[in-house]
Amino acid sequence: MQIPAAFEYARAESLDHALQLLAEHGEESRVIAGGHSLLPMMKLRIASPEWLIDINDLSELEHITEDGDWLRVGALARHVSLLESDVVVGHFPIVRDAEKTIADPLVRNRGTIGGSLCQADPAEDLSTVCHVLRAELVIRGPNGERTVPMKELHRGPYETSVEPNEILTEIRWPIRARSSSAYTKVERRVGDWATAAAGASVTLGAQGQIEDVAIGLTAVGLDGSTATRSQDAVRGQQPSEDLYAEAGRLAAEDCNPMGDQRGTEAYKRHLADELTRRVLRTAVGRVMSNAGSRG
Ligand SMILES: Cc1cc2nc3c(=O)[nH]c(=O)nc-3n(C[C@H](O)[C@H](O)[C@H](O)COP(=O)(O)OP(=O)(O)OC[C@H]3O[C@@H](n4cnc5c(N)ncnc54)[C@H](O)[C@@H]3O)c2cc1C
Repeated sequence: MQIPAAFEYARAESLDHALQLLAEHGEESRVIAGGHSLLPMMKLRIASPEWLIDINDLSELEHITEDGDWLRVGALARHVSLLESDVVVGHFPIVRDAEKTIADPLVRNRGTIGGSLCQADPAEDLSTVCHVLRAELVIRGPNGERTVPMKELHRGPYETSVEPNEILTEIRWPIRARSSSAYTKVERRVGDWATAAAGASVTLGAQGQIEDVAIGLTAVGLDGSTATRSQDAVRGQQPSEDLYAEAGRLAAEDCNPMGDQRGTEAYKRHLADELTRRVLRTAVGRVMSNAGSRG
């Protein structure tokens, strides 16, 4: 692998200090968190920042905290912390489903949720998870804090609405009653990026109907990751195999995969169909078994 272009390095001591360093060094500076995406890009000279602002000492961005109807996760929370958190899996089993498949322990020990979302790679698993959980993102800049919904974070592949002088500080997932979620991924070998993956979150109503649903797909070129027509087909209906099949059929129709070394376009469409069915079935099953275990 190549050697990166020369750069300067500063280690931030606090969030305010990090923001001050970004303001000082301007557009040529980049935040570095786990470095698992940025450093390979620098080695390949796809990115050549003049300054790296290291935020790894900002322990105030590592929290995983239940706060009323929200789970608040600091942008510097590592993959491994999300994977091992009981509070996360208790409310959002989709996160553990996804984290189990992300890379390997080396990457999971350092890589962060904030870095994953800010990298905006279309094959990134946590982006789909955050779409499905309807996450809100807290972003801090020189003029204070703003909150944006997940659907406004990504402007396109590798592009986000976090400005060069801003830092993503927190991810918030709404906690909802009678709800659960699931993620499943097909990869060529353990630790690989997705050939295709799907995630779903469902809320069941008092009569057992699917009151609310979010369905997302990874790495199959779906606009904004969200399978809108599949969601519309499922919302308000009683769960059934026929319903999951219809949602899968629509997801396969609406996605726009590219054939590559991971599989042909037709194979990826087939996966979009099958994986959509599976995550719906699993998420609904999880709500039902949670309701049963409480009853
Ligand atoms: C071998 C390998 C396999 C992988 N496999 C997978 C996989 O299967 N699935 C998957 O989803 N991911 C995978 N990844 C990516 C992994 O999840 C990375 O950890 C993640 O993409 C980036 O997190 P990071 O903390 O390392 O970010 P960094 O590399 O430090 O940063 C990435 C980008 O985000 C910016 N950034 C970081 N934090 C912030 C912040 N708080 N505010 C603003 N900007 C910020 C940086 O400036 C940079 O532009 C893999 C990585 C490797 C190396």
